[in-house]
Amino acid sequence: MTPSDLRALIRTVPDFPHPGIQFRDITTMIAHGEGLAACVGHLAQRAKAAGAEMIAGMEARGFIFGAAAAAQLGIGFLPVRKPGKLPVPTIGIDYDLEYGSNRLEIDPGAVRLGMRIVIVDDLIATGGTALAAAQLLRMAGAAVNDALFVIDLPDLGGAARLREAGLRVESLVE
Ligand code: IMP
Repeated sequence: MTPSDLRALIRTVPDFPHPGIQFRDITTMIAHGEGLAACVGHLAQRAKAAGAEMIAGMEARGFIFGAAAAAQLGIGFLPVRKPGKLPVPTIGIDYDLEYGSNRLEIDPGAVRLGMRIVIVDDLIATGGTALAAAQLLRMAGAAVNDALFVIDLPDLGGAARLREAGLRVESLVE
């Protein structure tokens, strides 16, 4: 299945989570065996080309794609978690959302100094989440140069923002 075949498996849900928002829902794609396998395969191929030594994925949908791609490459997966979830001392980063703020945390012990870590998430909108994850992983000593997404919403400018911050950005579907 090509990335454009995958597009047909992604459902758009109007007015979720707020009126006027068109939510791109990947649960229909991951329920499709061939679609899931193809999506993970495309991500794994790009992560390998980027020289990934580890994949980091953001809670929660980044876990689905990131862990599957890492397993396919035989490399480790690092969960970038919401606050208060990890059972060990963490490092964290706060970042602004349109309304309010959010926080991401990791176990710094999971990162070897200079390790090449590729970020994977289901979707990039404004890029705030991925940018915060990249900064956090770099704080822990990782070399973060690449971010991969299943879906990019280009009108929201996230990929451009990441590129301005020096990251290579790829997505399967716009
Ligand atoms: P950003 O930080 O604005 O780039 O938002 C990206 C984050 O919000 C990702 O972790 C996505 O999972 C989530 N997100 C934003 N919009 C959508 C959507 O339409 N569908 C699924 N996830 C979304």
